[in-house]
Amino acid sequence: MDRKLSFVIPAKNEAESIVPLYEQIRGTIKNLGYDYEMIFIDDGSTDGTFKKLEQLHSKDKNVKVIKFRGNWGKSAALQAGFDKAQGDIIFTMDADLQDNPQEIPAFLNKLNEGYDLVSGWKKTRHDPWHKVIPSRILNYLTGKFTGIWLHDINCGFKAYKIEVVKALNLYGELYRLIPIFAAKKNFKVTEIPI
Ligand code: UDP
Ligand code: MG
Repeated sequence: MDRKLSFVIPAKNEAESIVPLYEQIRGTIKNLGYDYEMIFIDDGSTDGTFKKLEQLHSKDKNVKVIKFRGNWGKSAALQAGFDKAQGDIIFTMDADLQDNPQEIPAFLNKLNEGYDLVSGWKKTRHDPWHKVIPSRILNYLTGKFTGIWLHDINCGFKAYKIEVVKALNLYGELYRLIPIFAAKKNFKVTEIPI
């Protein structure tokens, strides 16, 4: 059996980007020789996100859809996806096309080097200062208190070996700290610029 990639993608009001994101992921992985599943979590969207997801699912059964009854937040969304994921390798990506699927092979290469968790580092950020500054502070404090120095700990684009996600239990704001939990459990963590 081929190895399988699971994509776990939380989406709140992302109707515009769902289909392009799906197509870009398919386009990137189609020649890599993996089976795949894409698990989308509709986190209380009030736009046409769920409808787009239903349409994708009816065309491609590798697309799986979880629908929350309200806006339960990104941790709950990721955790629901992790619980359902059946791949050997799990990717998380944001649904808003801020993460470029063409980077997928670079993450896979790092996992093949022996890392258990590869975290994206948005080296050139397109975010406003009120997101950049808190992020710098979080990365600094994390490094200081845990010895785990990453530039962009909270980046939504990550790749994991399955054992890592099955060891996580996310709620509240904890999704921001995933690399710390993984490192504390002795998984090998690294980052790549994306
Ligand atoms: N998201 C979600 N629930 C929320 C807020 C965001 O599922 O309550 C999703 C959103 O659709 C996106 C990802 O989480 O796919 C990251 O959200 P956003 O782009 O707002 O975060 P940022 O890029 O500012 O970190
Ligand atoms: Mg975003």
